[in-house]
Parts: sequence; C-alpha cells; structure tokens
Amino acid sequence: MVESLQLVPLALSSGEGLPALGLLDRLAAEAARLLHASCRVEPPQLSVDFAFDTLRRQTWSTPVLSRLQQRPRRDGAVTLGVTELDLYVPVLTFVFGEAQLRGPAAVVSAHRLRDEYYGMPGDEDLLLQRLLKETLHELGHTQGLRHCTDWRCVMSSAHTVERIDIRQAGFCAACAALLPARFG
Ligand SMILES: [Zn+2]
Ligand SMILES: [Zn+2]
Repeated sequence: MVESLQLVPLALSSGEGLPALGLLDRLAAEAARLLHASCRVEPPQLSVDFAFDTLRRQTWSTPVLSRLQQRPRRDGAVTLGVTELDLYVPVLTFVFGEAQLRGPAAVVSAHRLRDEYYGMPGDEDLLLQRLLKETLHELGHTQGLRHCTDWRCVMSSAHTVERIDIRQAGFCAACAALLPARFG
C-alpha cells in the first residue's frame, strides 16, 4: 500500500542530471491526484556518483535503489528517486526506471522520456505524462505487480517512448485487483 510517496532528486555532485524543481512539483501533484496519497518532493538531492559509470556515461540504477532504501521513511511510504541522468542495468542498454519488487524504493529517469533526446522539440506536458506513467509502473512493482500483457495497462513493459505513450496512466482491471485497495 502506498500511503505516501517521497520524491528525491538524484544527480551527480557536479549537478549534472538534477531535475528541475518545477518538473518534480508537477509530478508530485499529478501522482498525488492519481494515487490519492501524499506526495512530496524531499530535497536535498542524493548524489549518485557512486553508481555512475564514466565509460558508459550512465548511472547503474540498482545500487541507487539500495541507497534510497536506506533513507528514513514512514510506514507505507515509497521513496522514488527522480533524475535526468541516463540509467542502466548491466544486461540492458538503458532503463527508464527500476523498482524493488515489494520493496520501498524506486527510481525513474526523464533522460530518454524527453522528445529532445530523439532530436525533436521539447514538450513538457508529454514529458510529464511519460514520467507519471513510468512512476506508476515502478510503484506497481513496489506493490508486487509484475509485467502485464495488456499493452494499455501501465504495467506492460515498454522499451520505447511510443509504447509508453499508448499506455494509459492507470492499471488494467486484473492488475488493479492485485493492488492494495487504496492504491491506484
Ligand atoms: Zn517494469
Ligand atoms: Zn495490467
């Protein structure tokens, strides 16, 4: 059960990757509305230099989750790291996010959710929708949900922004039935 969500900005100590506070505030507001839960941005940022691979120029998300897990939180709260850094796990080229299955920590990256990444003009509203869907997806994992075969469901696996865009910002009936009552 997600009773509250704590958003933690993630960046390198140089400041690279730090998400704009306005974006975090909008994400917190949208997540609060969808989850009926309290969602707050919790500065200061967490420096993730320890997980940054200087050759790949990417940040390994799994050790970041461990670090986020160590932060104090209230019962039923999930700590969500949000960053503009590009994330990866060793077996994959990149990930949009990662979460602990039935754990209290998750992370999402805006890096490849931006149209600018694909050489197109930026669209902040579209970015926010994608970030929100990725947040819901990772929160679903923290609640024990696995990937869903319904491509409209936010728990379907997506490795492109096009697939994220055709997802709805919500859980299908089958996934929703597996969630704690207050969630989603
Ligand atoms: Zn997933
Ligand atoms: Zn589903």
